[in-house]
Amino acid sequence: MPNRIVVLGAGVSGLTTAYLLSQDPNNEITVLAKHMPGDYDIEYASPWAGANYLPVGKEGSNHHAWERDTWPALKEITEKYPEAGIHFQDAIIYNRKKDQETATGQWFAELVQPNPWYKDVVPDFRNIPQSELRPEMDNGQRFTSVCINTAVYLPWLVGQCTKNGTVFKRAVFEHIADAANAHHSGRKADVIVNCTGLSSKFLGGVRDEKLLPARGQIVVVRNDPGPMIGLSGTDDGEDEALYMMTRAVGGGTILGGSYQKHNWDALPDANLANRIMKRAIDIAPQLVKEGQGIEGLDIIRHGVGLRPLREGGPRVEKDEVAGIKVVHNYGHGGFGYQASFGCAQSAVALVEEVTGKKPRAKL
Ligand code: FAD
Repeated sequence: MPNRIVVLGAGVSGLTTAYLLSQDPNNEITVLAKHMPGDYDIEYASPWAGANYLPVGKEGSNHHAWERDTWPALKEITEKYPEAGIHFQDAIIYNRKKDQETATGQWFAELVQPNPWYKDVVPDFRNIPQSELRPEMDNGQRFTSVCINTAVYLPWLVGQCTKNGTVFKRAVFEHIADAANAHHSGRKADVIVNCTGLSSKFLGGVRDEKLLPARGQIVVVRNDPGPMIGLSGTDDGEDEALYMMTRAVGGGTILGGSYQKHNWDALPDANLANRIMKRAIDIAPQLVKEGQGIEGLDIIRHGVGLRPLREGGPRVEKDEVAGIKVVHNYGHGGFGYQASFGCAQSAVALVEEVTGKKPRAKL
C-alpha cells in the first residue's frame, strides 16, 4: 500500500519536503497550495528571499542542526545542477558591537561572532584582519556562501517533484483537516504535512499564536557589487538591516533591508527604500559609477516579504487534528532556505514515524 501524503504549501518548506518525500517510490504525494512558484504575494514569503546561506542558529539548538545539515544539500545542488539557479558567492560579514541589543543585531548574533560554529561547515572561512576593517567595525569575516535565484530554484524544485510523480494542485483551505480529502487519488490522505508558513497563524486546526511577521523590504537592482555583504545593524533604526547579494543566472542584486516585527504592511515604504539604497552604496561604492549616488542604481523592482517568525523557533513536529495525522514544518523566519533541507529531513522522518511505513528507497 502506498503512503498517501498531502503537502500543504508550495514555498521552499513545502517543496523541499515534497522533493525528499518524492524520492521514495512508495509515497504518493499531492502538493496543495494557494500560491505556487511564479506568484508574488504578501502571503507567500519564499519568492521574496535573497536568498543566501548566512547561518543564525544558536550553537547547540535544533536551528543550528538544521542549518548545518542544509549546507551539504545546497552545495551538492549548486555543483551538480546549474539549472537550479544557485551559485557560490564570496560573503563578507561585518560586526559592530553597538548593534547587539537591536532587533537586527539579535537576529545576526551568531552570524557575526568571530568564532562561529559554521566556520567548520562553509568553505574558506577566515577572519578579516583588523587593519583591513573600517574603524566602526569591531570584527569581520569572509567565507564562501551560496546565493539562490528563487525565481529559478522554486520552479526547479517543482520540476524535480513532478519528475518523481508528485501532483500539484491549487487549493485554499480554512481548516487543515479538509486538505486530507483533496489527495489526487480521490482517497483520504494518510498524513498532511503542514508547510503554510505565517498562514498557520490563521489556519483552522492550527492557529499558532506564536507566529509573527518580521517584515523585510528589498530593492532589486541590475548593478553588481561583487561579493555578498552583510552588517550587524545600521544607524537608521534598530529594525533596519544592511545586506546585499547577487542572485545566480541573471537574477539581479537584492539590496536589503529591514526586520520589522509585527509589521504586516505589504507596500514598499519609499523612505525606507531610499535608506536601503544609500546604505548599500556607502558600504559598497562599487555598486555605482564613481561619484554617483542612488541615481546610479538601475532598479528592477521594490519588494516586501513577511518572514514567518515563530517565538521559540520553527515547529517541526507531529500532531493529530480531527483524527487526521499531521506533520508540521513551518515558522522558519529569515532562514527558510538555509535550514530547508535540515527541516525537511526532520519532517520526512516524522512522516515515516506517523505512517508506520518504512521507506522503500533511501536518499
Ligand atoms: P511560504 O513561502 O510563505 O509558503 C507558504 C505556502 O503555504 C504558500 O504556497 C501558500 O500559498 C500556502 N498556504 C498558506 N495557507 C494556505 C491555505 N490556507 N490553503 C492553501 N495554501 C496555503 N531565508 C533564507 O534562508 N535566506 C535568505 O537569504 C532569506 N532572505 C529573506 C529575505 C526576505 C525579504 C524575506 C521576506 C525572507 C527571507 N528569507 C530568507 C526567509 C524565507 O523566505 C522564509 O523563511 C521561507 O520562504 C518560508 O517558506 P515557507 O515555505 O515556510 O512559507
